[in-house]
Amino acid sequence: MSESHTAGNAASKAVTMVVEEGVAVMTLDLPGESINKFSPAVIEELTVLIDLIDHDVTINAAVLISGKPGNFIAGADIDQFLAWRTAADASAASAFGHAMMHRIEKGRVPVVAAIDGACLGGGLEFALACAYRIAADSPKTVLGLPEVQLGLIPGAGGTQRLPRRVGLQAALDMILTGRNVRAKKALQSGLIDELVHPAILRATAVKRARELAAGTIPRQRDNRHHGAKELLLDDNPIGRAVVFRQARETTAKKSKGHYPALFAALDAVAAGYSAGSEEQGFAAEARLFGEMAMTPVCRELTFLFYATTALKKDSGVGADIKPRPVPRIAVLGAGFMGAGIAAISAMQGVPVRFKDTEPARVAKGTAAVRDIIRDRYTKRQITRQQFDDQVGLVSGTVEYTGFGRVPLVIEAVFEDLTVKQEVLRATEAKLDPTAIFATNTSTIPIATIAAAATRPERVIGMHFFSPVHKMPLLEVIVTPRSAPDAVATVVEYGRRIGKTVIIVNDSPGFYVNRILAPYVNEAGMLLDEGVAIDAIDKAMSAFGFPVGPINLIDEVGLDIAGKSGAIMAAAFGDRMRPSDALQKVLAAGRLGRKGKQGFYTYDEGGKREGVDESVYQLYAGGSRRTEVPKEEIQRRLSLAMVNEAARCLEEGIVRSARDGDVGAVFGIGFPPFRGGPFRHVDATGAAEVVRQLEQLDAKYPGRFTPAPLLKEMARTGRTFYPREGKPV
Ligand code: NAD
Repeated sequence: MSESHTAGNAASKAVTMVVEEGVAVMTLDLPGESINKFSPAVIEELTVLIDLIDHDVTINAAVLISGKPGNFIAGADIDQFLAWRTAADASAASAFGHAMMHRIEKGRVPVVAAIDGACLGGGLEFALACAYRIAADSPKTVLGLPEVQLGLIPGAGGTQRLPRRVGLQAALDMILTGRNVRAKKALQSGLIDELVHPAILRATAVKRARELAAGTIPRQRDNRHHGAKELLLDDNPIGRAVVFRQARETTAKKSKGHYPALFAALDAVAAGYSAGSEEQGFAAEARLFGEMAMTPVCRELTFLFYATTALKKDSGVGADIKPRPVPRIAVLGAGFMGAGIAAISAMQGVPVRFKDTEPARVAKGTAAVRDIIRDRYTKRQITRQQFDDQVGLVSGTVEYTGFGRVPLVIEAVFEDLTVKQEVLRATEAKLDPTAIFATNTSTIPIATIAAAATRPERVIGMHFFSPVHKMPLLEVIVTPRSAPDAVATVVEYGRRIGKTVIIVNDSPGFYVNRILAPYVNEAGMLLDEGVAIDAIDKAMSAFGFPVGPINLIDEVGLDIAGKSGAIMAAAFGDRMRPSDALQKVLAAGRLGRKGKQGFYTYDEGGKREGVDESVYQLYAGGSRRTEVPKEEIQRRLSLAMVNEAARCLEEGIVRSARDGDVGAVFGIGFPPFRGGPFRHVDATGAAEVVRQLEQLDAKYPGRFTPAPLLKEMARTGRTFYPREGKPV
């Protein structure tokens, strides 16, 4: 006999319930959404059902399962964050979540979480409050508390219940990294109780619910599967103190003072052990959650989440233009970039024709592809079978055989216009007329390459960053002639191979390298003025960049940096005139890391050691270095980049501030907690940015002339983003 209930009004129902011989099975299935999220409305609905269950003595156990295959609960609906005005608002939301989780944990009947797919944030916190967690054995099943990635801490009990479940060390690792744990690992750590084939998930969950009701499975169990050593540490205050101290030290190094949520998370977990009562631990979590929700870091990381989510739905052309199917591709040039592109394509199951000029080069490129894919196998992200299948998708060639059937060719041959145009002509002759030729040039205008084409409307830029399999950004470069369906196809393909894609208009340096140029140049100018290499690099990593600009030049290679600097100077004149410092080091034959000699010294294996003081002998002041305050270095370099970004927007190189911010953060590592150059202007105020630029321009004429767009915004008080509500 089964009976059906729904909570709330029928139109908004997210949870349905049927009772099967004493077990209430609640199915969460948010209408009109591809994933399940917790919102105040959903929590309300669940609370009503829990009430109903509590009061119905014919029910003696419950199961919560998702109606969406491959997705349990992806976390909180972050739209609700926008309504919070004060820390108290956010703390209240956390306390509201606590109350529901408490009802699940302490209610009259035991509740089983039946997890198939993503179980993240509030989803995992819900599961932790349940009496039993059973998961579907599927690659889609991942569990995690990603809140710190939004500048927050878990707010629905995660900082209190997770350590009790998996032990302090494992809990801190999950909470402080925000990393997902796969199903098998979750079983090993005791995070879940059982793993079953997806087909029997529901039935087994109902069975376990009955066993819990009958007491065959005790509702209170010590589920800590981890080793005795960790248990010992957890139960011993001195041992715990050691774990906390180490975690604080690592976090201090990692956060460089920029990510307060990491410390708040540590404090919340610690409160769970030191508080006099359970309630006090939860209260500490709610208070710290509220405080973090009001930080600028949380605001900017949330913005980036919205921005990247919006980009995933943006094809760059009208919604009526459909991307063409890309069942296979060809990659021209089996060098460093070509191998990366071929590898990430094969990883998505796309067969690749991989062409170079000589068999030996093809073989070298294919070996590089294998190495990239092997890395995933070594890290157990794929099985041996998947490794073999993916490697098998890449077939090498020195001819154009098979090109007639590929709808997309990605070219990554030498950075030389003549070579690129020759390759384009030869390839076009073999291609279907609708096929797209995408070039990965880093400096040559796409229109210049396309001038050699018989079908220039099918020539486009796909600017990948190195190393291709690690860097998240792809710039798709379009010319006025690019066919809309070609744009849509390339954007869609970029996303399919895991990239965050921004669309950029054809222009020297495109977007990312263009805003990088004045920033790197300004670092060179500081060297010219006699500032020490590490003073510059340290200032910018303290600002939040992953590496300093001089270190970056060494990584990219001085020859490449020099070449691209010359191109930018030719295109934009004085404001990008290269510094003498770089020229002198390059002229001395130093190439950076790849030559094991640059601004830094490197060991035999290419590992960076320290500043190469002998570089200073190439400069006027020798090793006598001038001191410039850190704040001034940061201001000069960051504003050079911000000002150039504003010019790119006003010239239409990027379509929106959103694209410009995402490009800077994902392409260069502009500090994510600052949101990007345009967010930085909004946070500082355009008037203040213009004032600082004018001050610098008076001192260094021509390099800091404020972009007209910034001046206009300073005058009118306009901002790049709305001050209220959704940022994008
Ligand atoms: P690379 O020298 O490692 O590889 C180039 C490959 O192209 C070589 O294997 C070469 O044999 C092959 N090649 C040359 N002529 C060919 C032809 N006619 N047909 C087929 N193959 C041919 O260079 P790379 O670093 O991989 O760069 C390739 C492209 O990617 C360049 O346009 C470069 O500007 C661009 N790019 C490089 C980076 C980077 O960081 N290396 C970043 C972004 C873009």
